Amino acid sequence: MKPIVYIAHRGEMGESPVDFSDFSLKTVKELMAEALVPFEVEKLVGGKRVFIKPNFVRPDYRFNPAVSSDPRAVIALGSLLKDAGAVRVAVGDNPGLGLSFREALKEIPGSDSWIKYGIEPFFYEDSEPVEIDLPEGKLFKRMKVPKALLDFDVFVNLPKIKMHMHVGASLGIKNLYGLLVDEQRMTFHRQDVSRKVVDILRRFTPDLTVAEGIWALEGQAPICGEPVKDFNTVIAGVDPVAVDAVGSSVMGIEPVELASTRLAHTAGLGEMNLEAIDLRGAPLEEVKRYFKRPVVSSMGAYPNCDVYELGACVGCMSSLRHALDKLHYGGELAAIPQNTYILGVPGPFYEPLAEWEGDLWLIGDCPMEAYGEGGNIVRVSGCPPHFGEVLRELKRKYIDQ
Ligand code: SF4
Repeated sequence: MKPIVYIAHRGEMGESPVDFSDFSLKTVKELMAEALVPFEVEKLVGGKRVFIKPNFVRPDYRFNPAVSSDPRAVIALGSLLKDAGAVRVAVGDNPGLGLSFREALKEIPGSDSWIKYGIEPFFYEDSEPVEIDLPEGKLFKRMKVPKALLDFDVFVNLPKIKMHMHVGASLGIKNLYGLLVDEQRMTFHRQDVSRKVVDILRRFTPDLTVAEGIWALEGQAPICGEPVKDFNTVIAGVDPVAVDAVGSSVMGIEPVELASTRLAHTAGLGEMNLEAIDLRGAPLEEVKRYFKRPVVSSMGAYPNCDVYELGACVGCMSSLRHALDKLHYGGELAAIPQNTYILGVPGPFYEPLAEWEGDLWLIGDCPMEAYGEGGNIVRVSGCPPHFGEVLRELKRKYIDQ
């Protein structure tokens, strides 16, 4: 039988994820309710403890209101599941390396009203991590999650519909990354991140995936980029691969372009061929638009940054580009002097630079040995380093003086 994927879509609502009233909250709830109709949520959640996993990566809604889950979508879905008979509805995420959910929650508009809707926050930091074997994992064999996460009966994945410079697009399978505790955040965070999330999917298969693009995100996502305002689209399904296939398609990305979709499909974890999916609701072609694609390379992106990507993989490329974009979108990049950045493995014919403009930044472990110690050499190690470390070092050296 074909897996059902439902697309619910509305026209303009005119409010934002930051400033919203009961008017758009009600409309988002209607949108969610419509998307859930084929999936008999009363049967799924009645009398059960439900965990909802949104995408609250580094929430900063004033900086960009479409990077993290739309607060209206979280309230709408949580209250619908509560109304459907769930005895407990908890919402939680690992919002980013070094950031607790308690701190992140302060930045989420309307989170102080969750209790009114029967939704409780789930604080990763309050639960000891537990290591779980992934016997079917091909690459990622043991994952660490907060122990209390295992107390839930039903897992509902609530990804954001957005572009992602590292993996193409961030949808349901990628959203599973936030189940991990910090300790494992940067392992396999290169091209292999797609395999890692599929290995997580084998163990933590969502009972339901509800991809939310009330305001979606295009361009230099997942941390920067431009909001796709009033996209007002919700895509729901039980098959997580089918939801990602439809989710990427509405952004103008073929399902086969995403490694996680391909890997999960070939592993038999779900369907990615649109013709083999029972598509319901709004016609895909009417909802679809071609999102601006992110650029992961930093070469030539900003005039004050002379970047050499040697044999760099996407881990270091995205860490540097995230950091530079974050400064650019925050209006601070112009304060950084002309510098030179090197990342990736030096090839056999590589001759280390004898001179360079400004400071020489070595990003990631690969280029470290090619250069000795020098007065104006800055090293940010890691494989890859987290983008936040690159950003922090840049700010410390040139901005936070
Ligand atoms: S240090 Fe090298 S291998 Fe590791 S992420 Fe960076 S470029 Fe890739």
